[in-house]
Amino acid sequence: MPAGRVALLVPSGFPGLPTYRLPEDAPPPPVGARVAAPFGSRLLTGVVASLDPPPLPEGTEEREILSALDEVPFLPEPLVRVLLRASGYYFAPPGELLRSAVPARLLAAGEAVYAPGPAAVGHAPKEARDGEVLRLLLALGEARLDALAARLGRSGLAAALRRLVGSGAVRIRSERSAPASAPSERVWIARPASSGHPALSGRPKRRAAHAHLAALGRPATASELRAAGVSRAVLAALHADGLVTAVDQEKKVDLRRHVGTSSGDRRVVPTAAQAEAIAVISRSVAAGSEGSFLLDGITGSGKTEVYLAALEAARSTGRQGLLLVPEIALAPALVRRLLARFGERVSLLHSGLSDGERAAEWERARRGEVDAVVGPRSAVFAPVPRLGLVVVDECHEASYKQAEAPRYDARDVARARAREEQATLVLGSATPSVEQTLAASEGRLRRLTLPARPGTRRAAAVEVVDIRKEPAREGDHGRVLFAGRTVEILRACFEREEQAILLLNRRGFSPSLLCRACGEDFRCGNCSVARTYHRRPERLLCHYCGDAIRPPARCPACASGALMPVGFGTERLAERFAEAFPDVPFAVLDRDAAARRGGAAGVLLDFESGKARALLGTQMVAKGHDFPNATALAVLDADALLSFPDFRAAERTFQLVTQAAGRVGRGEKPGLVVVQTARPEHEAIRAAARQDHAAFAEAELRFRRAFRYPPYAHLLLALFADAERPKAEAAARSAAAALAASAAGARVRLLGPAPAPIDRLKGQWRFHLLVKADRREAISEAGELLAALPEAPRLDVEPQSLL
Ligand code: ADP
Ligand code: ZN
Ligand code: ZN
Repeated sequence: MPAGRVALLVPSGFPGLPTYRLPEDAPPPPVGARVAAPFGSRLLTGVVASLDPPPLPEGTEEREILSALDEVPFLPEPLVRVLLRASGYYFAPPGELLRSAVPARLLAAGEAVYAPGPAAVGHAPKEARDGEVLRLLLALGEARLDALAARLGRSGLAAALRRLVGSGAVRIRSERSAPASAPSERVWIARPASSGHPALSGRPKRRAAHAHLAALGRPATASELRAAGVSRAVLAALHADGLVTAVDQEKKVDLRRHVGTSSGDRRVVPTAAQAEAIAVISRSVAAGSEGSFLLDGITGSGKTEVYLAALEAARSTGRQGLLLVPEIALAPALVRRLLARFGERVSLLHSGLSDGERAAEWERARRGEVDAVVGPRSAVFAPVPRLGLVVVDECHEASYKQAEAPRYDARDVARARAREEQATLVLGSATPSVEQTLAASEGRLRRLTLPARPGTRRAAAVEVVDIRKEPAREGDHGRVLFAGRTVEILRACFEREEQAILLLNRRGFSPSLLCRACGEDFRCGNCSVARTYHRRPERLLCHYCGDAIRPPARCPACASGALMPVGFGTERLAERFAEAFPDVPFAVLDRDAAARRGGAAGVLLDFESGKARALLGTQMVAKGHDFPNATALAVLDADALLSFPDFRAAERTFQLVTQAAGRVGRGEKPGLVVVQTARPEHEAIRAAARQDHAAFAEAELRFRRAFRYPPYAHLLLALFADAERPKAEAAARSAAAALAASAAGARVRLLGPAPAPIDRLKGQWRFHLLVKADRREAISEAGELLAALPEAPRLDVEPQSLL
């Protein structure tokens, strides 16, 4: 019988699944198990993707895996299939998806040890360097890379090893016998002893410490004990006397440290509409038949209640649920509510955790120790053993699509997982995308509606203010930050002792710094955009590449000293707000604030607790939050998104304004919203003012159909980037020509190639080729052709951004 073979998912950008022979004597590992495998001159931890890879061409040497690291699957088999499918669908290397899914720590490979291999004797080196390395290894018996480098120098070493390993003259041995795991910590347990125990009598500190630990009735860490007044010395003494035992256990993440401890769960009696939605979803979960729902509920209609009840339904059938949120800032409030309901059996997975914490949470989820996992996009890969439900909150948000490689969409992955595991999928939003709306009309999603807010609460009233009719303040270059009516509404709100939210979707002090004499606007040297002027700390910052310079005192082009900040950002808004409402304490939420100490969660808690009475910020303030005492909201620049060169500009504007308006009037008190715009007649603004999603979707779908945009077409965006503009352009042109001449080309329509709206980014010139097709398969064919080109573009399947 021939030796078994495996194909592996390896954490690298390798475009396919490398294959390996299995060691003769070892039983084959199951799909999903980790194995240690040589890869190039390195050692990697791979995951078994299949046990019967297609045969290699005759005469190809295949390497052998070093050892199996798991006896049972590390990744559930359905999840392996989902990763492979996503890899094909998004033209992303499978290893990139593996890296998105699994915390790096759990794929750590340990250091490779090199030793002479079976073909070492009599090996004819291809290069002089190979001979040197092999001779040294024969002399040493074995060595790590560092030891080899110390003797021979680093240059060309890795390449020589790769060749030698490839020819069998050198083999890689793994030092590691255990798979990488979550970090552990030492905990202490009291052993039974009477207080009259000889080691305790006359030793009050030790007696108190022992009594404390015994009373705890659970293991405690040394730092926990120190906080309770037990010193290390006392602990050591107790240990020496055999009165306490030490054990190493997996480190537990202190979730409360990440989500805060404030208000737990408000239990409510579901409204009729909520009860109906809960019943339908619970039935689907219990039946274990894959059902897909669109929970179409206006802002403040109580969607969260439905999600939580659905998660409970999954738990009661012994299955786990995932709750995806579009932004980390939304997770803590949900986790607090889940903790109140599910006790400790809740997990939070996101990039704000340390690598060790992420690994620990991931492992808890994998072992089935939690009933619900909350997190952003990447939590869709949480390896729960029996998936019963996936909820995607604010399912219209573009952040579910990863903008960098691998460019996957968590909503599609959620659907694929639900299919694989007969789980129920719930997409929830007050402003579903028109793609989702159409899917619901066509029955591909089952629509569940929450048409009203609970009780007597009404959706907030919205007033649209035409900003063109407002006088601008001196020095503001004709721009208006606060309309008269806006100030009135805010003032009344603060007089009622209620809270207000101000949305301005731009961080920094002003969108640009402009020379009044010559018009210089300090474009980024790497990107074709103006830098944003920041005051705290003072700098001119490119929001696309992060490059910052100190603002000069004089214009570098004309030496004029008349440099003016033009327009408004959140820093300037804060300054003006403090001027207009000196007695109102406020907090600012934007990406800069989120990056500071305490982060977004701290800002939100300040507002929730009433410490801040106004919340100022970017779109981060508009999303998903529930502040019952907030009753006034101002959208200061509703037009900011409208002018984006993207076919979704109107939809994004409608969503942002509707969602923002939905943040107020959620408690018992009514809400009032003011929307400042220079385009009050625009359909997106008018529909948002009426909170009329149906009307907007109908108009937008008509536009999409007429111009053949999603959902009436599938899109593939190919990006050609190069430091030299002519090269990027030539690559784009030849790709377009190749595609147009192909069979696939006949089934798609090409837009471009053309310079991208941001035609220079991070020093790269950028050209776009947009491929449109009626059928999904045509996109796959076109993508395969483009991916195989010698100068393959970056491919984005169903892109969310066309910049
Ligand atoms: P959505 O996510 O749909 O915008 P939320 O789930 O945040 O809305 O609910 C909005 C507010 O209504 C919250 O303060 C919530 O506690 C409250 N709420 C939800 N359901 C009920 C109910 N059945 N009775 C009373 N209040 C409710
Ligand atoms: Zn100038
Ligand atoms: Zn830049």
